[in-house]
Amino acid sequence: MAMSITSPLVNAAPTQERILVIYTGGTIGMQPKVNGLTPGENFQERMADALSQLPLLHQHALPAYDVLSYASLIDSSAATPLTWQQIAQDIATRLATYRGFVVIHGTDTLSWTASSLAYQLQGIDRPVVLTGSMHPLETVNSDAIDNLHGALRFAASTELQEVAIYFSNRLLRGSRAIKQHTEALDAFISPSYPCIGERVGDDFIYYPSRGLGLQQRGAPRFELSDYQAVSNGNVIRLALWPGISPWQLDALLGDSRVKGALLQLWGAGNIPSNPALLDVIANASGEGKLLAAVSQCPQGSIHLGAYAAGYGLAEAGLLSGDDMTPEAAFTKLVHLLAQPLSMEDQRQRFLTSLVGER
Ligand code: ASP
Repeated sequence: MAMSITSPLVNAAPTQERILVIYTGGTIGMQPKVNGLTPGENFQERMADALSQLPLLHQHALPAYDVLSYASLIDSSAATPLTWQQIAQDIATRLATYRGFVVIHGTDTLSWTASSLAYQLQGIDRPVVLTGSMHPLETVNSDAIDNLHGALRFAASTELQEVAIYFSNRLLRGSRAIKQHTEALDAFISPSYPCIGERVGDDFIYYPSRGLGLQQRGAPRFELSDYQAVSNGNVIRLALWPGISPWQLDALLGDSRVKGALLQLWGAGNIPSNPALLDVIANASGEGKLLAAVSQCPQGSIHLGAYAAGYGLAEAGLLSGDDMTPEAAFTKLVHLLAQPLSMEDQRQRFLTSLVGER
């Protein structure tokens, strides 16, 4: 993918002390065009202009940064596993050069990209902070400036060693966050894990006891897999609805192109008590497909078999996603299926917390 790196002239720190800002698109950089908001160019200049509106105290505390702007800027609804792979590779290849990374991304699928990066960049020893905004940079009172400010400050942290999302004053674990509002400025929450940092007044506070830093073992153990083989609709997500029929479930799970599926069950992990539905799941699992489940409820864990309505699901081969977000569970399926792992290893790793996602 063609791209360009630019750096603000005023800001001459050596690269090892700098942050790399990767601009992929999203509302934050959008400008009005005939068909509606469209990702705009010249992000580096526009970002510098926006940050110059911060009080001097804050401007002086900003780390030096370069901007890498993708040639093809997207609304994040167009992101695919190949987009996640590209961003991970761009970070991995520049690891020796930058002390931290900020990824500027549309909010719609930001939490999906964050989860995927967390798996690909396992064990990372520095910050990767994703952010975006609900309003474009140039909109009056846009949230973009504060979000960029906080993301840069946390990306310069020497303690933060994981993929995180900074949005509306809070730093969330990337693999724990979901977008929960289409309009509110605090659009992201982490339903089953506390924030790992936050802005309090003028301070940006990181909570090490909640971060991965203290749990990292040894050097980065990146898993930069080729996602090509799993990027053509090979992993699917299906939320059950009242009245779902076995033929409907089979139409998706039975398709030979499908290698993995995330099912969103009801409550603590229930489906209608219909043996034919269980048969569809067992058949797909028997064909070697990697099948996992999370709840449709945004909070809490699933416990397969706690109710009679969930009896037999684990035996049919369905893996429990525990309290994982749909984003974390789905991107984990993609990640595991992209690797040359045995079915048993894929299943075992799905059930293991790799980056604090469960
Ligand atoms: N549609 C936009 C995107 O995800 C929304 C946003 O950035 O807030 O790219």
